Amino acid sequence: MIEQLLIAFVFGAVIGSFLNVVILRIPKDESILFPASHCFACQSKLKPWHNIPLLSWIFLRGQCSFCHSKISLQYPLVELSSGLIFVVLALKFGISLPVFFIALSFLMLLALSLIDFKYKMVPDSLNLLALVFAILGAWSLGGLFANFHHALIFAGGFTLLRFALSYILTASAHNEAKKNVTSWSKNYHTYPFIEALGEGDIMVAATMGALLGIPLTLVAIFLSAVLALPVMLFLKGSSKEDKTVPFVPFLALSTFLVYLFDSPILSYIEANY
Ligand SMILES: [Zn+2]
Repeated sequence: MIEQLLIAFVFGAVIGSFLNVVILRIPKDESILFPASHCFACQSKLKPWHNIPLLSWIFLRGQCSFCHSKISLQYPLVELSSGLIFVVLALKFGISLPVFFIALSFLMLLALSLIDFKYKMVPDSLNLLALVFAILGAWSLGGLFANFHHALIFAGGFTLLRFALSYILTASAHNEAKKNVTSWSKNYHTYPFIEALGEGDIMVAATMGALLGIPLTLVAIFLSAVLALPVMLFLKGSSKEDKTVPFVPFLALSTFLVYLFDSPILSYIEANY
């Protein structure tokens, strides 16, 4: 068992190391294969032994071995989290191909969370991969169809929610604008269209549906709102210019938590309703 967990950790950490490249390069629209890894300060090409997940960062003490500029803590943290995601899932289900797909789906959600946090964007490519891996994470053909079915339900549900919220927000903004019509703002009520929830969130919801099924996805969405609320209130009170909160990290974290504690949550729901 210990060997299995160790293998799972190493596997996760190695993929996490590749994930770091993805997180850095996809938002900049760069190729994830070329050029080879290099230091961002001195551009020196890294030697193979500078690329060992976690260990290199520890042995180099977080510095480039050529120019001694600092290497971001993001690298070891992503590698560690990826390794832990694999270990935790291996502990829960053992090692099998479906578990591998599920772990990959969570790694995509991890990358999406960091990209949303850093750049306020949700790249379609990673979002689609997260969904495909989530659907493939099934133990039978029936399970595959069920995953796809649940993904469609939440993609549809979120689309309706987004449509309704955007309508309400836009309509109230228009009404507000009409009240204060002046000669220079008389055309303002035809604009703007306020969009609630991004398109990216719809795809993340579909992935959640495929991973969790219907009742647990609802729990995860609720949990993510509960987790995000204090952050939103904190930002609202702060003097920071940009007050938009990246929501994907909260969705991803609550999806993982609900996924791990699925049986106690389901038995709680069954006992109470
Ligand atoms: Zn350097």
